[in-house]
Parts: sequence; structure tokens; C-alpha cells
Amino acid sequence: MPCTDNAEFALPDALVSERAARWQVQRERFAGSAFYQRHHPQAPLTLPTSLADIAQMPFTDKEQLRADQAAYPPFGSYLAHPRNRVTRLHRTSGTSGQAMNLALSPHDAKLQAKVAGRAQSAAGLGPGDIVVHCLNYQLWMGGLTDHLGLEATGALVVPFGTGHTALLIQTIRELGINAISCTPSYPARLAQVLAEQSPAMAPSDLGLRKAFMGGEPGLDDPVFRQRLADVWGMQAMNSNYGVSDFLCNFAGQCTLQNDLHFMAMDVAHPELVVPGQTTVVPWEAGSEGELVLTHLDRECQPLLRFRSGDLIRLGATDRCACGRGAPRFQVIGRTDDMIVVRGVNAFPSVVVAAINRCEELNGEYRIRLPHPPPYDRLPLEVELADNNPLSDELSAQLSRRLSDTLRLGVLLTLLPGGALGRNEGKTRRVIREYN
Ligand SMILES: [Zn+2]
Repeated sequence: MPCTDNAEFALPDALVSERAARWQVQRERFAGSAFYQRHHPQAPLTLPTSLADIAQMPFTDKEQLRADQAAYPPFGSYLAHPRNRVTRLHRTSGTSGQAMNLALSPHDAKLQAKVAGRAQSAAGLGPGDIVVHCLNYQLWMGGLTDHLGLEATGALVVPFGTGHTALLIQTIRELGINAISCTPSYPARLAQVLAEQSPAMAPSDLGLRKAFMGGEPGLDDPVFRQRLADVWGMQAMNSNYGVSDFLCNFAGQCTLQNDLHFMAMDVAHPELVVPGQTTVVPWEAGSEGELVLTHLDRECQPLLRFRSGDLIRLGATDRCACGRGAPRFQVIGRTDDMIVVRGVNAFPSVVVAAINRCEELNGEYRIRLPHPPPYDRLPLEVELADNNPLSDELSAQLSRRLSDTLRLGVLLTLLPGGALGRNEGKTRRVIREYN
């Protein structure tokens, strides 16, 4: 069934029959999968005919997929599609274990680009824009597959990749590029190279007016975005939220509010579940839980009740001022990034928002955990903004302020600007220095 145009404008109720029709096809794919027959013995026989009954089915998690790929390389026995009809292979970075091989059929690739295009369009990208795509094209979905999502908006897309920042600056100037797709940490690196290369030029002189970002916590914080607007004269949007095993980009902000629109309601079934438990949380405005995802239209590697590890808060399910009926949510954090300090849950997204409220700091930070939990205080390294001298008094004052905002003890290390280094890829903010 082809992916419907503009499904993100429909309210979920209007998509019920379309979703039900897709589920009838999809449940046959699950039933025919060796993986689901082995891991979920009851699933092939008892897959419910109605999506409303899906909570009776067992969950699928990353560990199961990882073990399955190790036993049945390269795609795992959850491939569920003839191997000679797979036309694209991506690999995940493998930061949390072995790299995963992700398979797409032509149908899957087309659908993925369409859903990603909805997210990028809502964030303000479209015909007439020239966008340079600065994510890694090597193996990873963020490169080619995100590129095709940008193209689906009708914008002119320039494939650049990561690194070679001096060449990027030259390319932006020569082509009159007005938009950039990159990680939230990259503009800091771009500004650094620009200052070395053309000291007379301010970042805002480069002409970038729109930024399409994703992939790191802190992006939803209005203070961070205001800083980019002040320095670069560009509007930064969170337009690229995805789960690589599921869909590389299925949510983004529209230009009228800050929550992420869930853009895949016609082709995916989302649920909320209590983290670490199996209890389902009702899908209604104000609910919080781990995002659990089921494919409704996927040929290769379909996932049934996949635990994403992302904790989200559902903000609204009514129609947005932008006209979209797609539900809106915020990402609170990762279940595996959660750091418990004396019983209080801390997430990098919350920590960065507190840091961005301190004018004496430039927003860079690391949470360096020297030993396994428990923690009495949150070990936090932060950089000073320009012209602020390092002093014990300032350190104590900031430490108090951050502790008050986060409502937990902070063990603060104050560093001069630039001390934490900048890199061109995805920056790891939480560093666990133990095995
Ligand atoms: Zn909207």
C-alpha cells in the first residue's frame, strides 16, 4: 500500500481504517518471520486481527535483535523479506555493542524518505531552499537516507558529509547555501574554523538562515536555539528524530511550537510503556513513558512492539496551529542515559537546559562517571563563556545554582572555554569511565 500524501495533517481518528488495512498485511509479515516464530512462539498464531489488541503481544528489544544478527548474519532472522530483494544496507555506529545491519527494500526506502520529508517540511524546508547536509555518509543512516528525506521536501540538497570545515565554508559562500542539516554541536566547530580562516567575518555573514538538526539532547531548549539565532541569524529546528532500527526520521517540530510531531501515524503504531516494566500507559495528552513502536508497513526487518529506550511525554493529540493532526511529544531522555543521583532521575536533556540558563557558561558540558552507581552528586564538567575568569567563588555560586535548578547535588568542575574540545561528529556528553 503506498504511503499516503499528507497523512500528517489527518487526526489519528481519520487514519483508523487505513491503519487497520496496513496491519492486515503487516501481521502476515510477522507471522512469516522465523525470528518471531522463535522468540514469540505465540505471536505467529495469535497475532491479533485488531491493532487495539496489540498490547497482548510480547515486546521486542535491542538485545534480542543483536543476538539474532550474531546468530543469523548479516540481517538476522527477523529480515522477513527475500534477501535478494534487499537494496540498501546501513550500519549503526555500534557505540553500545556490535554494529547492527539495517536492511531496506525499495518500498521501505521510499516510505522512509517520505516520512522524513514530512518532518523536514514541517520545520520549514522546501522548494527554493539550498541545504547542505553535514552528517556522516559512511554506512550510517544519517547520511544517504537522511539526505533523501531532505530531498523529499523539494529543497536543493548538497551532499557534504562531515569534516573539511574550511571547504564547507567556501562551498556555502560560493553556492549561496541558506540552510544546514547537522548535529547541534557542529555550529560551534564551524564558528571556530570561520574565526581562524576569516577573522573579519561574523558567523551571521555566512548567510545560513535555517538549521535542521537532531540526534543530541539539548536541542529543544529555547535558550540554546536563541543563542544560535543571535550568533548565526538562523532558526534552528529539531527536525530529525528517529530510531534507526525503526525509521531514521519520523518526528520533527513545526515552526509554530516546540514539541515534535509524530509524522508516521499512518505507517507505525506507537505505545507508551512504564520504563523497565510491561505496563502500558494510556496514549493521551500528558502521559509519559518509554516509546514502544510497531511497524504497520515494513518489508525488511519489521519490528513488533520494539522498546526504543526513549522516554517521551505526549504533549497534545489535537490539531496543531500549523494544521497538522500528528500527535506532539517531547523526548525526556534515554532509559539508558538516566543517571540516578540519590533517588532523583537526571537526564542530559534536563542538565543542558539548566546549564544554558547560566550566562557565565557557554553551554558545553560532559557528565563523566568515574565509577558505577550509586552517585551522591552529579559529576559535571562545564566550560566558561568568553571573558569570564575562573574563580572558586564563581564555581561555588554556579554549583549552588545548578544544584537548585536540578534539585540534586552537583560536583562541578569549571573549565576555560574550549577545554572540552569540539568534534565534527556526534558528541558524547555522558562518559562512563568503567566497564
Ligand atoms: Zn504543528
